[in-house]
Amino acid sequence: MKIGVLALQGTFVEHVQSVLRLGAEAIEVRRPEQLHGVSGVIIPGGESTTLTHLIHYYGLVEPLRQMAACGTAFLGTCAGMICMARDAGGSLAYPALEIMDIKVKRNAFGRQRQSFEQFLDVPVLGDQPFPGLFIRGPVIEQTGREVQALAWLNDGALVAAQQENLLVTSFHPELMDDLRFHQYFLALAASSGQKADTIECFTQ
Ligand code: GLN
Repeated sequence: MKIGVLALQGTFVEHVQSVLRLGAEAIEVRRPEQLHGVSGVIIPGGESTTLTHLIHYYGLVEPLRQMAACGTAFLGTCAGMICMARDAGGSLAYPALEIMDIKVKRNAFGRQRQSFEQFLDVPVLGDQPFPGLFIRGPVIEQTGREVQALAWLNDGALVAAQQENLLVTSFHPELMDDLRFHQYFLALAASSGQKADTIECFTQ
């Protein structure tokens, strides 16, 4: 199985390594044609203003939107989640991909120095808490009816969610040794890839 990791800016190297460690193929994507044949797409953490600018610049908006609509699995971490949100609070100069029915608030925990780590209960990953690393991350303020909440902080802030083939986290599983989030994503990619094939999804 091949996973495309958007390699325009941010933590893409760490995502590639996580995918490789789980035995799947990972390719760095900078151009639409590199999305051909991938079963899943990862949008890394970084800076969403820069990421959205570059996604537009490289002509990736429409191909990514079509793939998401056709059932290809997506994982967006931190800035990647902001890029996927239907509503990013009007704080981006370029429109984001707007593929997932969530409203997010950027930089919800303050500045870089307020970065923190908290263990999270994530029932879909099993009983062991997952180490959530938050670096100027967003929170999910609103969710549409199709969206399933996956994890909250102790104060009740929603920080991970899924809408069918779309998975997002406010934190950075790619910076941790715990690979369960990527494993969960690969399983999603394996099953949603079949769905995308059956409806003859267009990928560039
Ligand atoms: N604060 C960044 C943004 O708004 C996200 C930071 C991150 O991805 N760690 O895009």
